[in-house]
Amino acid sequence: MLMKSSPTPIEKIISVSSEMPIIKQVKIMNIKVKTAVIGAGAAGMSAAISAAGKNSGKVIILEKQNKAGRKLLATGNGRCNIGNTDLSVKHYHGDKAIIKSVLSYYTRERAQKLYRSLGLLLRTDSEGRIYPYSSRSDTVLECLRKKLEALSVDIICSFEIKSIKKENGIFCICSQSDRVYAENIIFACGSQAAPHLGADKSGYDILLPLGIKPGIMFPSLCPVPCREKYRLLKGVRAKGRVSLYSDGQIIKTETGEIQFSDTGLSGICIFNISRYVNEFFAAGSTKTLLISVDLMPEYNESDIIGYLRHCKKLFANDDSGLILSAALDVKLSQTIVKSAGLSGIRCGSLSDSDICRAAQNIKAFSFTPSGIGDFKSAQVSAGGFDSHTVDPRTLMCRKIKNLYICGEMLDADGDCGGYNLHFAFGSGMLAADSISK
Ligand SMILES: Cc1cc2nc3c(=O)[nH]c(=O)nc-3n(C[C@H](O)[C@H](O)[C@H](O)COP(=O)(O)OP(=O)(O)OC[C@H]3O[C@@H](n4cnc5c(N)ncnc54)[C@H](O)[C@@H]3O)c2cc1C
Repeated sequence: MLMKSSPTPIEKIISVSSEMPIIKQVKIMNIKVKTAVIGAGAAGMSAAISAAGKNSGKVIILEKQNKAGRKLLATGNGRCNIGNTDLSVKHYHGDKAIIKSVLSYYTRERAQKLYRSLGLLLRTDSEGRIYPYSSRSDTVLECLRKKLEALSVDIICSFEIKSIKKENGIFCICSQSDRVYAENIIFACGSQAAPHLGADKSGYDILLPLGIKPGIMFPSLCPVPCREKYRLLKGVRAKGRVSLYSDGQIIKTETGEIQFSDTGLSGICIFNISRYVNEFFAAGSTKTLLISVDLMPEYNESDIIGYLRHCKKLFANDDSGLILSAALDVKLSQTIVKSAGLSGIRCGSLSDSDICRAAQNIKAFSFTPSGIGDFKSAQVSAGGFDSHTVDPRTLMCRKIKNLYICGEMLDADGDCGGYNLHFAFGSGMLAADSISK
């Protein structure tokens, strides 16, 4: 039964902190609102701004943590890579219908309109990545908070949704101790990636009893554990080209920074490759995966052979492990030479075939992915709710009217470069816009 005493719209005062969006004192019972947004992340806050901007009734955000936007604050190493100038579909993976619908709704112009309405000044780097001008993620969060306040949207923190049910066309949203009633509900609970930021899969779990099931989910944008353990390389960084092979066929190539660790590979271009590696393991594929790192992509093998011959003469009395030390990190030089089976001799003693083997290793330093990455070190989750569950045009759940799902809960994940926040903001706005329609 819906509230007997109908204490509309808000029975007890909700106090919203004026500093950061931390709610100091919340006492709510039996609130009835037009739209309840579950989750105060990028998707939830943009959804609430869009819903409240339509002036069609009270909007609130229910957030389980004691502050809003915790993951947003951690983005881009605290700089918040909020978007990208290249918004083509090729940077996204997952349900193409949902991705295309969100991207065609949340265009660059619409994104700029949102930033303008927030007063958020931006700057774009040489690779098209968009950041707040302040280079600080807290600027973005503060702009969102001010806008929500101006639109009279309350963020009720420490409100962890345990269950929802629908009675007489109204949703009853239950935490341990309180109830909120809403005509529309927008799920923006994010994914289980980065649990140290409070992330979990409770959003999916709440929807399960209603018969709404996500597709297979796996971590993305994370380090790739590998069989080869090069302890010496721990912490070494290099620029290069990385190629992923499956049964000898090239699947994906990325150029950029590679970070080596004693357990495998990391860095932006490895993060982008991790999506493909993890998809293979999650699907139980038995194909053989191989990551080949080209440490000198600007040069072909014969150029490198020529260079090594030159260094052989120059550094004739040095240990062969140092032959590449004028080009690469010393530890990388030593590891490359060792893995070509050439340690313990002097540069001057290297034969032509030794030099060829070293050159081959520079062009194709190989690693074997040993298993799926970890949600703990992942930036996003791939998979989730697809277009069998939500209508891509509106993001409304096909089974339950007036229930919308947006952000990372959906089966859409982007490459590194601002694509995930762009999708989160865009899908939140699309879901909210669909309500008014
Ligand atoms: C370290 C790191 C760096 C990143 N950097 C970038 C970057 O620079 N650029 C980029 O584009 N992307 C980046 N991402 C990815 C990006 O942060 C996410 O894709 C995006 O924040 C997803 O937004 P969301 O609103 O869907 O989910 P979230 O931001 O995770 O928000 C979900 C909210 O819902 C709340 N919630 C969950 N369950 C419940 C419940 N049961 N009841 C109430 N509330 C609940 C959570 O506490 C959370 O506040 C990064 C991710 C990480 C982890």
